[in-house]
Amino acid sequence: MKAIYILTSLLLVPLLLVSADEPPASVTGDLVVVAKGSPACSLYYEPGAPKSVRLAADEIQRVIRLATGSSLPVFTEPRPPMICLGDCAAARAAGVAVEAMADESFQIVTHGHSVFIVGKDTTDGRTTRRGGLSKGTLFGAYAFLERVVGVRWIMPGELGEIIPHHDRLVVPPMNIMEAPSFAFRQLELGDPPVVRQWALRNRVGTQPGDAGALWVDANHSWNELMPQAIRDSHPDWAAVSLYPEKPNYKFCTRNADAVAAFTKSLTQKFDRDHSPFMMSASPSDGQSFCHCDRCKVHITLNSHGKESTTRNLLDFYNEVARAVAPFHPDRMIGALVYGANEYPPAEMLELDKHLFIEWAPLDLYGLGLYKKGYRDQFDQLAQSWHRIAPNLGYSNYLHWHRSRGCAPLAPAPELMKLEFATLKKHGIQSVREAVESNWAYAGPNNWLLARLMWTANADVDALYREWLTLAYAEGGDAMGRVYALIDTAFREFKQQEEQFHYATGRYDIDKLKIQKIYLSLLPRIHTLCQEALAKVNDQRAKQRISLFVDNMKFFHRELRRARYVRADEDLGFALSDEEFERFAASPEAPGSPPAKYFMRRAEPLPPFE
Ligand SMILES: [Zn+2]
Repeated sequence: MKAIYILTSLLLVPLLLVSADEPPASVTGDLVVVAKGSPACSLYYEPGAPKSVRLAADEIQRVIRLATGSSLPVFTEPRPPMICLGDCAAARAAGVAVEAMADESFQIVTHGHSVFIVGKDTTDGRTTRRGGLSKGTLFGAYAFLERVVGVRWIMPGELGEIIPHHDRLVVPPMNIMEAPSFAFRQLELGDPPVVRQWALRNRVGTQPGDAGALWVDANHSWNELMPQAIRDSHPDWAAVSLYPEKPNYKFCTRNADAVAAFTKSLTQKFDRDHSPFMMSASPSDGQSFCHCDRCKVHITLNSHGKESTTRNLLDFYNEVARAVAPFHPDRMIGALVYGANEYPPAEMLELDKHLFIEWAPLDLYGLGLYKKGYRDQFDQLAQSWHRIAPNLGYSNYLHWHRSRGCAPLAPAPELMKLEFATLKKHGIQSVREAVESNWAYAGPNNWLLARLMWTANADVDALYREWLTLAYAEGGDAMGRVYALIDTAFREFKQQEEQFHYATGRYDIDKLKIQKIYLSLLPRIHTLCQEALAKVNDQRAKQRISLFVDNMKFFHRELRRARYVRADEDLGFALSDEEFERFAASPEAPGSPPAKYFMRRAEPLPPFE
């Protein structure tokens, strides 16, 4: 409770900086943006500026209008005092140069009677050297709005946009430079435009083309590059599987003819399509790698006593890279190491510089990092991969569960701290996280991950408190306890109930999780939600809590349908059939993030019997 009030007062700092009682700006050299209900400066970018710079001007104009009621004029010739956007003669005259800036970085600096927001921007129709996009000025504009106006984008849509009101808006003297912690930052999310927009404002993407200055492709690609027809005509290329009764789509990576055919197929794909910086050479999903006599020699046990086929796969990747590189020396090959290949090889080996190793630690999926054995090794594994991989990315489903029946999930701040500090420490260049699209409960998790992808060493606890306060106002403390209950229950389940080794279903909301985690929590969650609703005065905060509660009504309905809860039982969120039908048919409130949509299409819970 106390923490939240302290935070509330901290959040007021930007408001105080620009309150109506400030001395005249000229004394301090501040730039007055809006005073006495009128615009006091303009927005400027050069004619021909990239689309992302023009969007920066639109966003600043829109947010300042909503914050103050005044609309700044936009010019394509400099008219100080001004907010000057992007690389231009006026910025260079003020000493702001983009030449030395890294991709996606920006500088915000006050100079004379203007503020310059200048970042590294890719020209329209072009990409960065590494196949991505750089929108430094736009990101600078979002950082400017956060710092000077106090805006936050905590969820998609109007309900997720927090814009404090200002009678007078002033830019204090500032000189800030920022660059992202990772060159590729993707949250895998359902992708309506409003979600992409939310992600962009938080400087991450929802798909590769949006996600940063680097283009990463390490998806499962064997089925495409070695299609069924080719495999059928060369049965001797098939992997020798330990499970011959199961269909197997893998080939032996030590069969020279198979590797040559694969390499030819990948080279031709690069020949046909010159645009992608990186193409994947990664195995199809599943773990049935070859156990022929030649492959078996290199199969070892990982530190948890499970089979590791990493060496065979890395030798294959090296062969492919060395064969493709002479034809396409400026391209990269995406190389997934996942499942049976996620543990680094015991011995050092040199990996080709054209390989981009994408480390996807399946053992950690579904909060596996809560298990001590995995947790203790995380740093060392990242370090070992970094030691041999010239280019290293990371892809995880750590916080994600296949949420059935609208079972709510919580952020795991303790794991986020460990995860991002470790990734940054060991030179990882790209981060992709699968997350939940149900914004009724997934807001804090998605926001925290987005913020950490931009600034890996950000203060997770402070950010989390900020989100709760902004989203739920006076109800933030009670809602924080709701999330803490879920997080604690998952941690205990992972540490005490679940078998250590990864197995199918670890990231499913299955029967055991419903029984061990959710059923006993529901009445307590209900009480806390009621407490939050009773405390909250802010209408929009009330709407956000209601979104969470609505989701719980869907969940309770599912628990009943699947017979975890008796027809006459009420764990707090029960509705009669008639009430439920009316509720389920009601439309999404205008301006709210896409949440009800995901509630309605949630997968059913597994039946109790
Ligand atoms: Zn083999």
